[in-house]
Amino acid sequence: MGILEVKDVNKNFGGLKALSDVNLSVRENSVHAIIGPNGAGKSTLLNCLVGKLIPDTGSVMFDGQSVLGRKPHEINQMGISRVFQTPEIFGDLTVFENVMIPCFASRDGAFRMHAYEHTRHETDIVSMAEQMLADVKMLEKRDIHAASLSRGDKRRLEMAMCLVQRPRLLLLDEPTAGMSRADTNNTIELLREIRDKRDITMAIIEHDMHVVFSLAERITVLAQGTPLVEDTPENIKGHPKVQEAYLGE
Ligand code: ADP
Ligand code: MG
Repeated sequence: MGILEVKDVNKNFGGLKALSDVNLSVRENSVHAIIGPNGAGKSTLLNCLVGKLIPDTGSVMFDGQSVLGRKPHEINQMGISRVFQTPEIFGDLTVFENVMIPCFASRDGAFRMHAYEHTRHETDIVSMAEQMLADVKMLEKRDIHAASLSRGDKRRLEMAMCLVQRPRLLLLDEPTAGMSRADTNNTIELLREIRDKRDITMAIIEHDMHVVFSLAERITVLAQGTPLVEDTPENIKGHPKVQEAYLGE
């Protein structure tokens, strides 16, 4: 049993079958990549995992509990965190303030300014936030406004904002999309460090094969809403079905 078990998930948009009988099992503490050409259904699948979309049929279990019918913030509290394609940070706030925000998001998903003002100086929370910034090598930039960070640093900050919630499953949707080769390599390095440092499972949706083969232990190939193969990177490389799926890209 994986920490995440997707069984027979279907999702239609009108007449379009975005996901057809999708099965996926992600092992705890592994990095699992989901790859596939544009329009394969990768983002739709991810949205079904975080409660942004509800599958028409099928089940999604996280650590033995169904996520279906739960609101995104409830799923977040179960231990699933998502990194967005474009970093979602607050430009007017400093790096440190950004990392403090998830510490004060309350159970109903609302942010409590009062709680923030009250506890911003509490040493254990402050040191936890600082530790996260150190983990992503952003501690020396703690007082810089987030808006003025480079794209790569924004990604690091967003990662710290996710990690401070102590997720058990981190979902990443094309974390290197639009990045330069240098920033892409930095992101790979960062994700490797996170993987090696803590008990965390990552499911990473990625278009860039270099990223996938640098990180993933298992790969699921999705094409036209259906998983074609699931295997190790070694076996996926040069797999005829995979090459077929990417033909015409
Ligand atoms: P990927 O992330 O693999 O590129 P998506 O999951 O975004 O693919 O999309 C899968 C298919 O579903 C595409 O054909 C896309 O146009 C369609 N689609 C995605 N979201 C919606 C939506 N909200 N409404 C209608 N069609 C959608
Ligand atoms: Mg997508």
